Amino acid sequence: MRAIFWFKRDLRLRDNRGLYELSSLPAEIIPIFILDERLLSSLNGPASRTGFLLAALERLEAELRAKGSRLYCFYGRPEEVLARLIAQIKPEALYTNRSYSWTGEKVQKKVEALCRKTGVEFRDFNDSLLVAPEKIEARKVFSPFFRLWSSTLQSEDLSIKPEPSRLKTPVLRLPTLAETARLIAHEPNGYWQPDYAGRRLRQYDFRGYDAGRNRLDEDGTSRLSVAIRFGLVSIREVLAAARKQLQVDSQFVKELAWREFWYHIRHHFPWTEKLEFQEKRRGLRWLNRDEDIRAMEEARTGYPIIDAAINQLKQEGWMHNRARLIVASFLTKDLLIDWRIGEKLFKKYLLDYDEVVNTGNWQWSASVGADPRPLRMFNPQLQSEKYDPECRYIKKYVPELKRVDCRAILTLNLPEYHSPIVDHRSAAIRVKQVYLR
Ligand SMILES: Cc1cc2nc3c(=O)[nH]c(=O)nc-3n(C[C@H](O)[C@H](O)[C@H](O)COP(=O)(O)OP(=O)(O)OC[C@H]3O[C@@H](n4cnc5c(N)ncnc54)[C@H](O)[C@@H]3O)c2cc1C
Repeated sequence: MRAIFWFKRDLRLRDNRGLYELSSLPAEIIPIFILDERLLSSLNGPASRTGFLLAALERLEAELRAKGSRLYCFYGRPEEVLARLIAQIKPEALYTNRSYSWTGEKVQKKVEALCRKTGVEFRDFNDSLLVAPEKIEARKVFSPFFRLWSSTLQSEDLSIKPEPSRLKTPVLRLPTLAETARLIAHEPNGYWQPDYAGRRLRQYDFRGYDAGRNRLDEDGTSRLSVAIRFGLVSIREVLAAARKQLQVDSQFVKELAWREFWYHIRHHFPWTEKLEFQEKRRGLRWLNRDEDIRAMEEARTGYPIIDAAINQLKQEGWMHNRARLIVASFLTKDLLIDWRIGEKLFKKYLLDYDEVVNTGNWQWSASVGADPRPLRMFNPQLQSEKYDPECRYIKKYVPELKRVDCRAILTLNLPEYHSPIVDHRSAAIRVKQVYLR
């Protein structure tokens, strides 16, 4: 049998569920990756993000070569690339890992239809989630979801599948990664290297997670989101590494469940891609002032904690979770900017950008999503005081405040800095008029 293996967000050989299944058959395997032109242009982000993806593909290519195989790489629309490829190489099957995102699912449906039409067997597997969303009946709130998810998890096959020992891949006249990479704008990512994933998984101290996860000035969280997003490590390996150190499932495993909760919401309430989960929160009177939107993206809101967070996002392509929460609350509640605009801002810069997780979290932060609390709003000053008490995070990402006394930063007594674009206390009154009318 000749079969295509289509890599997507699973850029590894170890514990790759679809590849494991295919490689157990006596098949000639053609591993491919498609740089989706629509996706790349819709992301519209820094060239270093594409640079990271290409570096991850190079690593995958090297892993494949070590198994006697290779990686063929294309640029275009997946359904069109695959139509040409099927006509050219006449495979009997196409194996891949399942997409659960809005965009990924749409593309996958087109490819499934193509396979039906051309008589190619299409098989997909759940690789990216610990529990596939279709296995859990709809829940609108995290806690009941978490109970169901935890009990379903007990009967899941969480074993780590080994990488294939050898892959039989024919040499074909198809584009290589190096040839395709020349077609797209990219630059090296100076901050993230794909190799970090395995290292971080081995070295991270999961026991310090509960105490350190909210501190902005510490390296307290796992930073595995980028690895998880690109599938550089499998989600079952992440769970196994945490369980090895923690014995009982703790907050860290709960965070993994939050990720799955957003996929659960997306599966059962697919219209939340564009529409608010809460019906009563549709059509809120957002202000969407251009000057506020610009000040946010240019990190000159006059609130050092917000400006620091945006600078971290733009410099590193990553932002601490606590900072994401503060920024999202500020953008939607203090400035009354539509959460969709915030979602796009993160989409532009985040390396771990995941449309399902980002949308779920933005809706949650804007109090329009799957969250029973009627209205949450953070005070940026109090958040700074609590999670960055010595202003180390702020000083790192807002260098012009490096020599300023931390007390002055925390009390916003900063005559030389940008004036605050909004008064938080007045904004706290205004937001109630908009939300609780
Ligand atoms: C407004 C907003 C937007 C966000 N957008 C994204 C996004 O596009 N992509 C993304 O991966 N995460 C997103 N998050 C969730 C979270 O901020 C990141 O997953 C986390 O900061 C990544 O850092 P970490 O790996 O050190 O996380 P850790 O705290 O170490 O958590 C471990 C893992 O659990 C998962 N996780 C943790 N918190 C959440 C959460 N709130 N929701 C879903 N999964 C979670 C992630 O996979 C993470 O890698 C967003 C959060 C907010 C508030």
